[in-house]
Amino acid sequence: MATKIIYFTVNGRPEQAEFPVNCPAQDVKDLFRSAAEAGPHDILKLYNPKGNIINISPNLEPNKPNTCYKLEVVASGCNSEPLGVELAGALGFDLSSMEKRLKDLEKKILIEAGTTPAVVYKMKKQVDSFREKLESVEHLSWLGLFKDLSEGAHKPSPFYHKRTLHKTKEECEHVLEKFLQMSSLEVSEEVRQYLKTPTFDNWQWEDAEIMVLLQVMYTDLDFVATYNIEPEVLQQFLFEVYRRYNNIPFHNFKHCFCVTQMMYGLIWLTDLRSKMDSIDLLIMLTSAVCHDLDHTGYNNAYQINARTELALRYNDISPLENHHCAVAFDILEKDHRDVLMMILIKVSDISNEARPMEVAEPWLDCLLQEFYNQSDAEKLEGLPVTPFMDRDKITKPSSQTGFIRFVLLPLFIELANLFPCLEQHIINPVRKALDYYTEMEKALEREKQNRTPCENGFKSKDITVGQTSVPEASSPDTQCD
Ligand code: MN
Repeated sequence: MATKIIYFTVNGRPEQAEFPVNCPAQDVKDLFRSAAEAGPHDILKLYNPKGNIINISPNLEPNKPNTCYKLEVVASGCNSEPLGVELAGALGFDLSSMEKRLKDLEKKILIEAGTTPAVVYKMKKQVDSFREKLESVEHLSWLGLFKDLSEGAHKPSPFYHKRTLHKTKEECEHVLEKFLQMSSLEVSEEVRQYLKTPTFDNWQWEDAEIMVLLQVMYTDLDFVATYNIEPEVLQQFLFEVYRRYNNIPFHNFKHCFCVTQMMYGLIWLTDLRSKMDSIDLLIMLTSAVCHDLDHTGYNNAYQINARTELALRYNDISPLENHHCAVAFDILEKDHRDVLMMILIKVSDISNEARPMEVAEPWLDCLLQEFYNQSDAEKLEGLPVTPFMDRDKITKPSSQTGFIRFVLLPLFIELANLFPCLEQHIINPVRKALDYYTEMEKALEREKQNRTPCENGFKSKDITVGQTSVPEASSPDTQCD
């Protein structure tokens, strides 16, 4: 398998890292982390010879010893060295010592007077809110580059099967509290602009933050002002949406966000506000938010074959879509404008491969996990096995090359005929993804040929190696929706 060698220095010491070209992003990050002898909460920054910061990922440009990169350990959380010291310097005081003084003072007053005086209570609240602002600013300033994913809170969890399908009351209450706290903070202009681009990285944001970002979309498209939407009503709506997306690998709340964010990006990129009524845009954004509500991770074919409650309720006719609608949709009229609205929602829905590879690839792993779960269940229950979900029939690259060639590109090219600026934003990245998976497919094929028969069941960590891809299995007309 092809490998990459990256030369870099850390603390003035020359090092070189070698990794397979298609190894997971997390492995590359871990490799650099151990080279820097950094702890799990430290933040790493990599500079190219020009002094620009570059992303630590499998897509790193290979270099030579004379053009080596520079690796730096930047921070370990807000309270610890060296960022704590840096912040203290920048602010002229040390926040944690101030907090401690306040705490001591409060304790003393409690002992002497029995109650916390209003003035101390007020000061305490100010310190708390200042800390919150500081932490969220620090966190926002790393966006797209350094938010430390090794903490694992936001990555796809391999333990979905250990969680209940529906979110628990505790889970919801915790997220709601966090969301309401955060929604009073101003989101920076930098983030607002980033949110309008298709390069937005969802993996850096936890659910409560995602709800704040959705709120920003409604505000920045002027829906809140135009339709006089009360902030509490919008917040309650977003929370209900969050609550009704289930704990499944792919069709979850983060997927709802990604689809909505792509829709939002398309609205800005195509300047749709000058071409369509605001109410139609409101319907589209809200449709995107609602489009997979209460998905259980099993598609229509499964619902019908397994005679689930949903299939019975909707007489086997698009049970899922009917269900999402029943939970949320208003039925649209059928003319050109409505077709465009539906196409844009569809494009947003299946647009992962238009995103940067480090954002798109983990989503593919999630999708395959959900697909394999369904086909495994179908096999166990003796139901017809959906070909493009069958782990014995598709591989990671084959699932993508067919889907990109036969579904994504034709659809995106039509759309770019209407909005030429999309060529650069969605078609080029999709072509890049096609090249990437074509290469991966070839590498797998070579690997398979070089293997002796007894090794043929081998499964690598990242790529599920199956049999040669079956054409009809690799090009589902709807990979996910
Ligand atoms: Mn979807």
